[in-house]
Amino acid sequence: MVSSEAAPLAKTGGLADVVGALPSALASLGDDPAVVIPRYGSIDLKRARRVFDPPPIYLGPVRFDTAIYQAPETFPLYLVDCPPLYDRKGFYGETGVDYPDNHIRFAVFARAALAVARYLFRTEIFHCHDWQSGLVPAYLRTTFSTDPTYLGVRTLFTIHNLGYQGLFPKTALADVALDPRVYRPDGMEFFGHASYIKGGIAFADWLSTVSPTYAREIQTPEFGFGLDGALRARAGELTGILNGVDYREWSPEVDSLIPARYSPEDLSGKRVCKEHLVREFGLPAEAMDRPVMGIVSRFTRQKGMDLLKEAASRIVEQDVYLVALGSGEPEYEEFFRQIAADFPGRIAVRIGFDNGLAHRIEAGADMFVMPSQYEPCGLNQIYSLKYGTVPVVRATGGLDDTIEERTGFKFKEYSAEALLGAVQAATEAYGGREGWRETMVRGMRQDFSWKASAAAYSALYRQLLGA
Ligand code: ADP
Repeated sequence: MVSSEAAPLAKTGGLADVVGALPSALASLGDDPAVVIPRYGSIDLKRARRVFDPPPIYLGPVRFDTAIYQAPETFPLYLVDCPPLYDRKGFYGETGVDYPDNHIRFAVFARAALAVARYLFRTEIFHCHDWQSGLVPAYLRTTFSTDPTYLGVRTLFTIHNLGYQGLFPKTALADVALDPRVYRPDGMEFFGHASYIKGGIAFADWLSTVSPTYAREIQTPEFGFGLDGALRARAGELTGILNGVDYREWSPEVDSLIPARYSPEDLSGKRVCKEHLVREFGLPAEAMDRPVMGIVSRFTRQKGMDLLKEAASRIVEQDVYLVALGSGEPEYEEFFRQIAADFPGRIAVRIGFDNGLAHRIEAGADMFVMPSQYEPCGLNQIYSLKYGTVPVVRATGGLDDTIEERTGFKFKEYSAEALLGAVQAATEAYGGREGWRETMVRGMRQDFSWKASAAAYSALYRQLLGA
């Protein structure tokens, strides 16, 4: 697996969770995975071993020296060390600005991953994730197309979010010594730019994304970010495999980050968690008898923040309470601060990234809202099911695939009215206590562990190898 993130060493979002968990799940099925990520400044090498110094990587005349470290893991986890490129504060940029040499950084990374396969770990499959590894299939199809080392090696390219594409000026291709012939509409050209994600989309043997519905949606103009045509051209080689979740971290039966444990058999701990949450967010005691809705999210347009903006005041008119945790675009952070000030004791907000608080919201809230504009898979709604926190979601992508009428509330149209309708339906259902309890318990009993997803990936690898 070639990825720019893997939890717990390097995480900004769902991609890291996948690459952090899938390898062990594959190993327990008898597969033999290894992972390659860059060694960022934040990754401490004290516990890692320097296992190999590959020959220098040349991008045209420019030379890059890398060293490969191996981190202690149950499977080989290789770190590509090249301090001038990766030993920085951020993964992709700082203070909201991308590093200007990202095209070089992730070209050298791709070349180093190819070197790992040449010298350290003879792979049959390169499983590449997102644009940061899009040059692996591109180099394999061009620079290394006749190299016997990679004969018969197959590539799978997984799209975790089509909104991030790795777009660079056309000149980037020369900077990274890629065959200029890749610059064509059915290659890496994208409206006058060089597109790294198209390196994967055009040149990988097979494509996948992280839910079946998102796999269909990205082939339409509404969700395709301009790439729907390129994806439709490969519709027969595009699979949607739902992400799994790690119930060792996210289950109220074992979660040490929440005030009390609970299970479908004994829900009493959930009330303790709610009391704790209501206090922690400074809500009045009356909130104990009304629905508390939770939000944990990146504050971006993708996550449906515009709908919340439009609907927030009317949501609280329905006598519900809202607690939100998140960070992101200043516009939305400001909006959350403002509504918390406008509705004290009704809406309470924490701006920031706080894993413990994310767990306490999952456990303490009655409902969880995700009105996403698009959602490749989404993890929080799956956590919510496990915590008996009934999801209210927009029926898109992975949200549509994981939430059913019997486990949550869905709305289709991307509008504040539709969101309000779903909130109202949920609020009314909350009043009918016994039916509500049944909805909670049905969700809690569902199984979205990695087992099924890993088996689907494993079967896909085998299919690619013709085995
Ligand atoms: P995405 O990868 O698009 O951000 P996902 O739902 O796939 O969305 O994954 C988000 C992950 O990040 C979840 O594990 C969620 O709990 C976590 N998360 C998001 N925002 C915060 C936050 N402000 N504090 C703590 N955890 C957060």
